[in-house]
Amino acid sequence: MRITALAGGVGGARFLRGLLHHARTAPSTEPVELTVIGNTGDDITLFGLRICPDLDTLLYTLGGGIHEGQGWGRADESHHMAQELAALGAEPTWFGLGDKDFATHVFRSQLLGRGMPLSGVVERLSARWGLDEQGVRLLPMTDTPVETHVVVSEDGEQRAIHFQEWWVRHRAELPAERFVVAGLDRATPAPGVLDAIREADVVLLPPSNPVVSIGIILGVPGVRDALRGSRAPVVGVSPLVGGRPVRGHADVCLRTIGVDETSEAVAGLYADFLDGWLVDEDDPMTSRRGLEVVHRPLLMSSTDAAAAMAGAALDLGLRLRPGSGRA
Ligand code: GDP
Ligand code: CA
Repeated sequence: MRITALAGGVGGARFLRGLLHHARTAPSTEPVELTVIGNTGDDITLFGLRICPDLDTLLYTLGGGIHEGQGWGRADESHHMAQELAALGAEPTWFGLGDKDFATHVFRSQLLGRGMPLSGVVERLSARWGLDEQGVRLLPMTDTPVETHVVVSEDGEQRAIHFQEWWVRHRAELPAERFVVAGLDRATPAPGVLDAIREADVVLLPPSNPVVSIGIILGVPGVRDALRGSRAPVVGVSPLVGGRPVRGHADVCLRTIGVDETSEAVAGLYADFLDGWLVDEDDPMTSRRGLEVVHRPLLMSSTDAAAAMAGAALDLGLRLRPGSGRA
């Protein structure tokens, strides 16, 4: 069974780890070939190194090297590089980078510097993390450098800062006017991205940030059209539990683009291609024509809980598949 998923960082990675766990442990599930299309809008160059936070969170989580408590970065890290950089007076100091993590960025920057496209680099990193053996293919959404910026207003002045600076340094507390994604209009989908959507049996949208993770991937020219035209059902999972994002500042992002912080409004962002939508057990949203809404506990408090959630999303997708009796 070919599953294609669009994913940001922590929310996407935990959900997909749950999906793989479900596929391994649920006796009735056919072998899964999973293609993950990762957001690269968070990418940033620091200390001369290219850093891809969402792709690395996916690699580390699916590969078993993630720092569980943080949700990002490597387990069992040391921070000698960052301490030495701080002693040198190097900027910035607000972006946490451990020593093992630095090795990923050095290696990636070396390969990019030799002219390898990002998708080629991700293939090398995927081999390091054993994704292939798990039936997982990770693709960046595009090989074109793309960077999400946030137009903020401070003392009546507007300026654009990198998304990471707004998110990590300012914890999304600087009033945001809008998001501007440099390079997105000229970006082309990375090799395999559109085919993975067209040839999938089920397409899944994990509970990743609808604005700055999924929303950015949908902005790569061609991706949204491929989803609209896909014969596979598209099933999404709401990032909101009790009317709030489970972690991070998706509520601020939604407000910035003028969208309510409800599962209903988030589903509206995907309305032109969404077939199934998983919402929390207490969510007031109900099914409507063309959109099957299913209520489930949506807290990924453990891998088992994430697996149950991902299993429910997959079951919904299989039920909505053409020829399964409903569609
Ligand atoms: P990021 O790139 O690291 O911010 O991660 P993603 O964009 O992939 O996911 C962030 C989103 O995941 C946030 O909006 C969270 O609300 C959502 N999220 C995180 N944990 C959970 C969870 O346990 N359940 C649900 N439903 N959503 C979650
Ligand atoms: Ca992210």
